[in-house]
Amino acid sequence: MSQSQHLTIALSKGRILDDTLPLLKEAGIEPLEDLNRSRKLIFDTTREDVKLVIIRATDVPTYVQHGAADLGVAGKDVLMEHGGKGLYEPLDLNIARCKLMTAGPVSGEPVNGRLRVATKFVNVARRYYAEQGQQVDIIKLYGSMELAPLVGLADRIIDVVDTGNTLRANGLEPQELIAMISSRLVVNKASMKLKHAKVQALIERLGEAVSRARESLS
Ligand code: AMP
Repeated sequence: MSQSQHLTIALSKGRILDDTLPLLKEAGIEPLEDLNRSRKLIFDTTREDVKLVIIRATDVPTYVQHGAADLGVAGKDVLMEHGGKGLYEPLDLNIARCKLMTAGPVSGEPVNGRLRVATKFVNVARRYYAEQGQQVDIIKLYGSMELAPLVGLADRIIDVVDTGNTLRANGLEPQELIAMISSRLVVNKASMKLKHAKVQALIERLGEAVSRARESLS
């Protein structure tokens, strides 16, 4: 089969992979080996024309934007930070749901001077505070944002929150809601045109799987 007829789907390990695999299975795509037990980064599937690549969550939009993968699954938080250039976002997979929020110390003492905000979502933070008309200093971190207010690095953080347990365990509380988050199917714009029949069929089958999952919950 020629390369032009192949589809490559980019996924990231963890919550997204665990929740996406059952949807892909319903759409007729199963990896030929256990992704969680392998150090490989590229996997064949039960469909000869479909491969999976396993990459970091924040790299998924970049791979799809540049056509290194035709499709991908990424959290809305990651897509908001990336900006979505070169991508279509045809389907909300309704998985890995959480909230993108600001958070700060429970003590809630007023901040003197410019608010210092630590986050890995620097673009989202810049946009959010600009919309609020608030000037802030943004500090880029790559993880463990909850530590920043505890050691005096920042007054607030912006992070994804699910149960809020991680915040509470560190003396923080969720404050303002920036966006409701779930994972989305993203498609490279050129692949959508050049491989339209295959991509469209996959979107439809995944859409049906998402609807069935919704119904089984209600
Ligand atoms: P929580 O349940 O609020 O204590 O969440 C625990 C940690 O998991 C948080 O610090 C988040 O960084 C991360 N997390 C929670 N939900 C998601 C999600 N849907 N996608 C990515 N990371 C998440």
